[in-house]
Amino acid sequence: MYIFYKKYYFSIAMFIVLLLSCNHKTKNNNIQRIVIIQDTVIIDCNYTFEQAISGSSAPKTIINQLSLINVTYYSTDNKLHQGQLLVNKKIATDMILIFEFIKEQKFPVKSVIPIVKYGWNDESSMEDNNTSAFCYRNVSYSFHAQGLAVDINPRQNPCVYKFSKKIEPKNGKYQIEKAGTLNAKHPVVLKFKELGFRWGGNFSQKYDYQHFEKGTPKKFRKKNGK
Ligand SMILES: [Zn+2]
Repeated sequence: MYIFYKKYYFSIAMFIVLLLSCNHKTKNNNIQRIVIIQDTVIIDCNYTFEQAISGSSAPKTIINQLSLINVTYYSTDNKLHQGQLLVNKKIATDMILIFEFIKEQKFPVKSVIPIVKYGWNDESSMEDNNTSAFCYRNVSYSFHAQGLAVDINPRQNPCVYKFSKKIEPKNGKYQIEKAGTLNAKHPVVLKFKELGFRWGGNFSQKYDYQHFEKGTPKKFRKKNGK
């Protein structure tokens, strides 16, 4: 037994040294990778909740339903960006899951910045191809007025009215083959549907390619007697 140990002592010792150094290397690599990721995230916005709702004409009952979430995504420059989405608390978890999926798929999202940046002007935000959710407008019917809808890359996925051919935003261009553009079979559209969202591309009066909504806003329920 002693001879056995003597014979293999050196090999065993070398093996242990090698094992420890590999483990050490892996840890260092992981640390390096984390640092690199943190270094390369471009911050598109970093509002506080108060800043994100400032200037909105929405009543307190609506504001209290909202949540400001951070999302990361690959933008059109292929770099990782961090933005924020102001959404109804009811869909906050869904949106986190969807943006994780969007990142995994490397589906390019130009920017995700609350509409306060555009002075609450939805047209300006859309023309800038900016993704957003809450906007207190068209309050009698819009899911955006309660943060229950999100518009993804609006310039690339415009809203096209079937009869008048009116297009929103005005500079919108729907080129189905371009990265960042949605269609009925697109994995991002399927992911939204899986989580119970309706897609505007299936609406009867218009093709609202950018738009996803979920649930029924309270006001609508009252109006419909539900
Ligand atoms: Zn919309």
